[in-house]
Amino acid sequence: MSVKSPYDLLFEPVRIGPVTAPNRFYQVPHCNGFGHLRPRGLAAMRGIKAEGGWGVVCTEEVEIHPTSEISPAVEGRIWDDQDIPAHRLVTDAIHAHGSLAGIELVHNGLHAPNRISRLPPMAPSAAPVDSSDPIQARAMDLTDIRNFRRWHRHAALRAKAAGYDIVYAYAGHNMATLMHFMQPRHNQRSDEYGGSLENRIRLTREVISEIKDAVGDSCAVAFRFAVDELLGEEGLSVDGEARDIVGLLAELPDLWDVNISGWSNDSATARFEPNEGYQESYTAFVKSMTSKPVVGVGRFTSPDAMVSQIRRGALDLIGAARPSIADPFLPSKIRDDRIEAIRECIGCNICVSGDNLNVPIRCTQNPTMGEEWRRGWHPEKIGPSVSDEAVLVVGGGPAGLECALQLGKRGYRVTLAEGSSALGGRSLRESRLPGLKSYARVKDYREGLLKSMAGVEIYLESPLDADAIREFGFPHVFLATGATWRRDGTGRQNHRPLAGLNHLPIFTPDDIMAGNLPNAGKVTVFDDDHYYLAGVIAEKLVEADCDVTLVTPAQTVSAWTDFTLEQDKIITRLLEKNVELTVRRNISEILPGGLRLACTHSNHTEERAADALVLVTARDANDALHRSLSTQPEQLSEAGIQSLQSIGDCLAPGTIANAVYLGHLAAQNFQGDDWDAALFRREMTALSREA
Ligand code: ADP
Ligand code: SF4
Repeated sequence: MSVKSPYDLLFEPVRIGPVTAPNRFYQVPHCNGFGHLRPRGLAAMRGIKAEGGWGVVCTEEVEIHPTSEISPAVEGRIWDDQDIPAHRLVTDAIHAHGSLAGIELVHNGLHAPNRISRLPPMAPSAAPVDSSDPIQARAMDLTDIRNFRRWHRHAALRAKAAGYDIVYAYAGHNMATLMHFMQPRHNQRSDEYGGSLENRIRLTREVISEIKDAVGDSCAVAFRFAVDELLGEEGLSVDGEARDIVGLLAELPDLWDVNISGWSNDSATARFEPNEGYQESYTAFVKSMTSKPVVGVGRFTSPDAMVSQIRRGALDLIGAARPSIADPFLPSKIRDDRIEAIRECIGCNICVSGDNLNVPIRCTQNPTMGEEWRRGWHPEKIGPSVSDEAVLVVGGGPAGLECALQLGKRGYRVTLAEGSSALGGRSLRESRLPGLKSYARVKDYREGLLKSMAGVEIYLESPLDADAIREFGFPHVFLATGATWRRDGTGRQNHRPLAGLNHLPIFTPDDIMAGNLPNAGKVTVFDDDHYYLAGVIAEKLVEADCDVTLVTPAQTVSAWTDFTLEQDKIITRLLEKNVELTVRRNISEILPGGLRLACTHSNHTEERAADALVLVTARDANDALHRSLSTQPEQLSEAGIQSLQSIGDCLAPGTIANAVYLGHLAAQNFQGDDWDAALFRREMTALSREA
């Protein structure tokens, strides 16, 4: 960084109680699917964040007691001293780079069905748990409350023993007992812990004070608080009691970590919150009510936006979960004046899907996320080339771009041939659909770096066939030619082409993305894909004045988006746009001027009028090139082609995250040892002789 940089402000130390953060970059607590089951993977991932310059690196929520556990979700645990060594791995990895380690202690109360411990859940007032488990929480009595306070105190002492510098009390996301006590809808008590606001925050006040008493000599005590639930009068809100709560507790914690609730609002996808700093209008008031530092999030990836937050007095520390996942080295890149090298989060929540599916975190933009320990991958470094042989990559979508970028970084001479007039493949095509603009960042980041690499040549408008590839004679060829949406309706539900395809104009997502839309009229979007695309296309068609019905054989609309926290918002948006939603219906036949739909559970059928049909079902891998090259191996060797490999969607269509990952994996393994590249290090349970 130059002597005087506009971003110097971001690198000022910030005092937090008895500790000092080395800069203003603060990785707030975030779940990751490693948790208590995979401590080495977890420690390596957190360590990389510290190495990348995050001055504070926090854990995910860490369960303090078996009366609150949300298995099979894999969160942290600090139930007793046996948990300390695993946490030591994490704090050591963070401290190795001079950063502070924070731990978010949690008791989930109503949110914890306790499937492993099988203990009755606890809450301020008796009520069903908020999962779909047929289980109710019991009301905590005064003994439970005393125990609850003691569990926090003991967990804080263990956290200190494990080396943490910041210890959290947590009242966020509608997932924490402390928050449930604050919310009138969850707290109907008539004792000193219910009724008035002062009574409803009594437990929080006690817990923060007692953590301070226990560890406050050397650890800062942070309070994570959701200032608005976006539920109007039904929930905590900035215009209601949340402001009073901040006022009443203002100087008690050493740090305020503020956000909005629930998780789908806090971690809103770019489709629903396109702008950086989208939480500012809710959280900005907090700084005016406390002298303590305040951290908040808002999918910050631009240093100008970060500086603006601080200059305008909205925040003291720039909080990030997803931007730190997409680019663990974001702070160092700002420090080193390498802004163009920032791998910006696209706001897709594939990272969240990992946690929701109880597997280690993954990221669309950062294929090394979650692979730091098990594959030894690093977001910025990759092993050098082992030969000076040249490589041809055919196709400049997410897979081809990532493969070419990593091979280029390794030092190989890379030629990238793209058939169309622009790089990006589906990341570019989809970015033109409503709400998906940020998906172009997958291309932007890679294109920018590739163009600056001396050893990489890019050719656009260069569709290659097998003859051309053989004529070029590159010794190594990667095919990343993508996939094409099917036009016949085959997919999950229908294993054969639909009957009557000639009766209606048929469109696919590729048509819509190419700007080939049905004429306004009644259009049915048939979704047998179950991710985001059908809903996005329905929105696009509404914009084009079509009268849209979305039909899906699934139980619900855009079913998989539940894992990315988008499903509720998608349904609301489609209903607001007057899209008719029809679930549990398959197309049994396409009719002239309509469709015959069949219930997926009964024999019931019904006819619906339609002028056009958009089929969002499945994709065919564009593997013709691979087949024509690989079925003539003698011609390949005559052409001097030693290796040929398909990557991304042309191997097996999947998410953009999958395509990037497969491109990265291929580049990592290229000319590697002769070992099974599918294998990775696993965290095995050691069986001791003593029970
Ligand atoms: P992936 O997600 O696997 O990267 P995409 O469909 O996003 O796949 O990208 C594939 C890219 O490959 C597209 O940009 C497409 O134009 C390009 N492509 C497909 N076939 C050829 C070919 N024969 N020669 C050059 N480029 C091709
Ligand atoms: Fe951002 Fe998507 Fe990566 Fe999550 S998975 S950090 S939302 S790019």
